[in-house]
Amino acid sequence: MLNFKWLNMLLCCLFITACSSAQNDEKEKKMTDHSNNPYYSRTDTAHLHVSDAEWKKILPADVYRIARLAGTEYAFSGKYWKTDVKGMYYCVVCGNPLFRSTAKFSSSCGWPSFYETIRPNSVQYLDDNTHGMQRTEVRCGRCESHLGHIFDDGPPPTYKRFCMNSLVLDFEPDEK
Ligand code: FE
Repeated sequence: MLNFKWLNMLLCCLFITACSSAQNDEKEKKMTDHSNNPYYSRTDTAHLHVSDAEWKKILPADVYRIARLAGTEYAFSGKYWKTDVKGMYYCVVCGNPLFRSTAKFSSSCGWPSFYETIRPNSVQYLDDNTHGMQRTEVRCGRCESHLGHIFDDGPPPTYKRFCMNSLVLDFEPDEK
C-alpha cells in the first residue's frame, strides 16, 4: 500500500519535472521565436542600421547585453559550447549565416569555437583594447552585433579560434 508520505513525494517530483520542462520550452521558444523582430532574415544580406534603443525593444535582455553592450556569457554556461550536432549557426539578432557545424571544434575554453566563418564578410573585425588586453572583437557583418573574439590558437587549416557567445547564435540543425 502506498502511504500518504510517499504519494506526496511522488506528486512533488512530478510537479517539479513539469515545471522544469515548461521552463525549458519557454527558453527554447525565446531563442527561436523571431516574430517580433522585423529585421531577422536568413537570406537578406542588406546591411542593417538599427539603433541600440530599437534593438533593446526587440531583443531579450540577456541577448541585448551580449550583442549590443559587448557582454560575455559565463564560460561553460551557454547552450552550444560542447554540442556537435550538424547544422548552421546564424546571428540570433539578424539571421545572418555565420558558421557551419563542420567548422566547429572541441575547445576547452567553455564557449562555442569555430575555425572559419561561412563567408569572409559574414563577420567584421575590430581592435578591442578593453580589460587591459589587446584582442580582436568579432561582430556580425550584417547587424554589427558583438559575437565574441578571435584568437590565433585554433586548429588547422586556419589556426584561428572564433570564440563565440552561445546567446548570440541561432542554431538550425540539418534536416535528417
Ligand atoms: Fe547579425
